[in-house]
Amino acid sequence: MMRRNTKQDEMSKEFLKWLEEEDPLGLDEEMTTINFKCLDCGKEDEVPDFVVEEFEFDLEKHEEVEVVCPFCEGTMRRAKKNPK
Ligand SMILES: [Zn+2]
Repeated sequence: MMRRNTKQDEMSKEFLKWLEEEDPLGLDEEMTTINFKCLDCGKEDEVPDFVVEEFEFDLEKHEEVEVVCPFCEGTMRRAKKNPK
């Protein structure tokens, strides 16, 4: 009979706990989003930043990322942070 490797067990337990608590893979809500505002209806929507980055990849430097508004199918652009 082999002796159980308790140290390794402890480690994987810790690891699983860490996975649950920290959600390092970002599978849950902990997602960075960027606010987009519709040029047509003025509504705002949040777009995950990795999606925006993917869109930016296809753009020229001076172009802005535009997404389709889910409310009116207009054009949404990154909302400017307005200092209040
Ligand atoms: Zn709209």
